[in-house]
Amino acid sequence: MAGFRLKMATQHGEKIAEEFGFTQFPIDPRVITEARDIILQAKPADVQGVSGAIIFAGDSATIIYSTEYNNVGFENFSIAHELGHWFLPGHPEEIVNAGGTHLSRGNFTQKTSIELEADHFASGLLLPSTLTRELLSRSQIGLDGILKLAEAARSSVSAAAIRAAECSSYPMAIIVSRGDEIVYAFTSEPFKGLGRLAFLRKGTPLPIGATRQFNTEPTRVLRAERLVDQTDLATWFDGPGKISLDEEIIGLGKYGYTLTVLSSEALPEHPLDEEDEEAKLEESWTPRFAYGR
Ligand SMILES: [Zn+2]
Repeated sequence: MAGFRLKMATQHGEKIAEEFGFTQFPIDPRVITEARDIILQAKPADVQGVSGAIIFAGDSATIIYSTEYNNVGFENFSIAHELGHWFLPGHPEEIVNAGGTHLSRGNFTQKTSIELEADHFASGLLLPSTLTRELLSRSQIGLDGILKLAEAARSSVSAAAIRAAECSSYPMAIIVSRGDEIVYAFTSEPFKGLGRLAFLRKGTPLPIGATRQFNTEPTRVLRAERLVDQTDLATWFDGPGKISLDEEIIGLGKYGYTLTVLSSEALPEHPLDEEDEEAKLEESWTPRFAYGR
């Protein structure tokens, strides 16, 4: 059920964006904190290793967000993540029961359930699927579309990449790496349809090729350099080898990570039937409530 809870968290974020009247990019999470009388504070520069925090004290809540990368996308994600702890069912209770102060170390690298849920909430809030799909449909498949999305939504490139993979109707895989290892990978649903694929978990070595080579030069990562090469499915996923893919690479700057996007203009689109998906979701959700009482 973990995947289902995360999907619900994403949808909750989308719903909040809609409730606050956002019908186009960018969604500014500060508008929401202000409307809900949540105190917003930048994190003191000397506090390291924490991406943000939320403190519940009596009737008031304070969100502390990170400014350390001097990056508006990172700040927005940090605030949106903490808003997740404010809006998502069960989060305030869990945090209050643990003393009222919650430190976040998020960005899709954490495994605890409330951290993952808050990351998905933030992703849905800043990058609602309707707006994301609409923007992607007007852009080139792959890294260009992701960069346009990040710019329009004022989100980080990595958050936009994950969301693009989630919402894309084309086969697309995004891989975040550091050194010679994969940190995390996401694939679009149509990508999963390309064949039986290996699961790229954290710590999987990067295959020999352009990304691995790129990462041997940290200055290229730091300068956010870009590189395009050709690869194939088997190289990355042990899948059918004849499917060739573009391997688009960009350094993520000060974070020290690299983003790789695997896609191809030559592969067919598989439109996602959103209505169907929602119906399925509702079906699986409703009985638990209807009969569980
Ligand atoms: Zn958190």
